[in-house]
Amino acid sequence: MKLTAFQYGKTELAEAMIFENGSFDIKQPIALLFFLIETEGRKILVDVGCDTMPGFPLFEHKSPVEVLEEYTSRESITDVIITHAHHDHIEAVKYYKNAHIHLHRDSLKYAKPYSIEGLSPFDESFTLCDGVEVIKIGGHFFGSCIVRIGDFVLCGDECYSEKNLTDLIMTGSSVNRENSLAFLKEYGKPCYTPILFHSPSVVGYIGHKIFFETET
Ligand SMILES: [Zn+2]
Repeated sequence: MKLTAFQYGKTELAEAMIFENGSFDIKQPIALLFFLIETEGRKILVDVGCDTMPGFPLFEHKSPVEVLEEYTSRESITDVIITHAHHDHIEAVKYYKNAHIHLHRDSLKYAKPYSIEGLSPFDESFTLCDGVEVIKIGGHFFGSCIVRIGDFVLCGDECYSEKNLTDLIMTGSSVNRENSLAFLKEYGKPCYTPILFHSPSVVGYIGHKIFFETET
């Protein structure tokens, strides 16, 4: 199995979105990322990125599908897991017509503007294939999910910073505090390796970086 991270741009986010007691006036730079899991039979994207970002500035931006295609073709993608139906995670889904699109049922109405074909809505956490688990959290957004590959946790937007997890600080962008707190308590445990979807240090430039590669 192989996990690769892709960065296709940068934007900024008010500190108050990252930490619940943060300032609305302080803006923090964040990266725009999506991920690819390759197994023997599948190429699974986790989120797809966006070409536009209404209401937010876009810096050093390239269409996410172009960034992907420097690595592999869009037609080769078999599955797309959308962690949640926010614009920067879902807009580019239109490029993956051959793929099964996995989205939690609670997110469906928010995904309507993106006219998704090949949608496989799910209700409960499930195992997509050997070693790849999609887990409903529902903290950051309605039907929001994370993806676990063993102890590696693709966090979606359940947290933005390591500090959310280490210091159990809620983000300022939760629709369900109880679910968000349960996420922080569980996945802040040292046995997990959290992978953050907006961290400027995961890739650090437009392009991709292999996160890990294992035999199985
Ligand atoms: Zn996001």
